[in-house]
Amino acid sequence: MIDYHLHSNFSADSTSSIDDILSMAGNLSIIITDHYEAVDGEESFKFDVEVYKREMRKRNLPIGVEFGWDGKGKIDIDLKEFDFVILSNHKRYDEKDRQKVYEKYLLDLYTFVKKIDDFHVLGHLDFPRRFSDGFEPFSKKLYPIIEDVLRLVLEKGKTIEVNTAGIFRYGEPNPSIDILKLFKKLGGKYVTIGSDAHKVEHVGRGIEKVYEILEEVGIKYLMVYENGWKISSKNI
Ligand SMILES: [Zn+2]
Ligand SMILES: [Zn+2]
Repeated sequence: MIDYHLHSNFSADSTSSIDDILSMAGNLSIIITDHYEAVDGEESFKFDVEVYKREMRKRNLPIGVEFGWDGKGKIDIDLKEFDFVILSNHKRYDEKDRQKVYEKYLLDLYTFVKKIDDFHVLGHLDFPRRFSDGFEPFSKKLYPIIEDVLRLVLEKGKTIEVNTAGIFRYGEPNPSIDILKLFKKLGGKYVTIGSDAHKVEHVGRGIEKVYEILEEVGIKYLMVYENGWKISSKNI
């Protein structure tokens, strides 16, 4: 099994050492994807790319990053240098209406995907649901925008990740099962899976559950990294 979304203490919001993550992971195939937020203001967060790469290489790990952007911050990092790039939108929106927040988030996401080519997967697609009162799902009215985002991702030859973190808040991954069904309907054939663990004890959390969900949705393949990317059937 794979866990391709993990945060070590290179991220400001995690204290896990790389070695502790590795021992917790056991047989899991992992990629550590620390935060690099090229955004204006306080939310900006950057690590020393050279030191980071050295630490990953020392342990024979692929070099991953979760790249956050706000559409304005200067992109001062060469994403091509990474083996795995998760593109994420972590922006917070002030709107009171949840669906309005979701709409703004999606419209930004569309713009970011349009502007950035150097990524492999789109991170936690319905991310703001995680922080919404009652974890309100994205309304069906927003599905045309979600469809545009997914089509663009697929046209660019990229894919999405299925992030298990939502399962432990409201029983569904990010994105939700309905959005995964839409992804499949649009021709999506494979995904990556990640726990988004910011704590060592969360490494690998919910991965098995996502295998079951993918089975149910009919997504048969994963994108896996074994000295380069390949598409593999899920029995790994
Ligand atoms: Zn994220
Ligand atoms: Zn993350």
